[in-house]
Amino acid sequence: MSNCLFCKIINKEIPAKIIFENDFIIVFQDIHPKAPVHLLMVPKQHIALVNELNTVNIHFISEIFLQVKNIAKEQGIDQTGYRLVVNSGPDSGQEVQHLHWHLLGGKKLAGIG
Ligand code: 5GP
Ligand code: ZN
Repeated sequence: MSNCLFCKIINKEIPAKIIFENDFIIVFQDIHPKAPVHLLMVPKQHIALVNELNTVNIHFISEIFLQVKNIAKEQGIDQTGYRLVVNSGPDSGQEVQHLHWHLLGGKKLAGIG
C-alpha cells in the first residue's frame, strides 16, 4: 500500500535497521525502543490488522512465529525470555495500520493487565 509506513520500509523507500528478512517477513528495530531489544516483525503483505487474517494470508504470520526463536537467539534473549505483542484496532493504540508483532526483551519486563 503506497502510503503505508511499513510498506515503505519493506520496499526500502525509507530506511530502517533491518535485522532479518525473507520472502514473507521483515524484522527491523523499533525507532523508539521500549526495551534493550525491541524489534518489529512485519509480514511483507499489507495486512492492516488481525481482523483481516484469513486462510490465504495466514502463512505470512506463521512465518513470524517460525522465525522468532532464531531472532531471539541472535539477539541473545532466547534463554532470558521475551514478549511478543500485537496491537490491533483503535482501542489497542495501534499506531501503524500494517499488522506487526513487537518482540521485546533484554530486561525484566513489567507485568501487563
Ligand atoms: P503500534 O503502536 O502500531 O503497535 O506500534 C508501532 C511501532 O512502530 C511503535 O513502537 C513505533 O515506535 C514504531 N515506529 C513508528 N514509526 C517508525 C519508523 O519510521 N521506523 C521504525 N523503525 N519504527 C517506527
Ligand atoms: Zn503496509
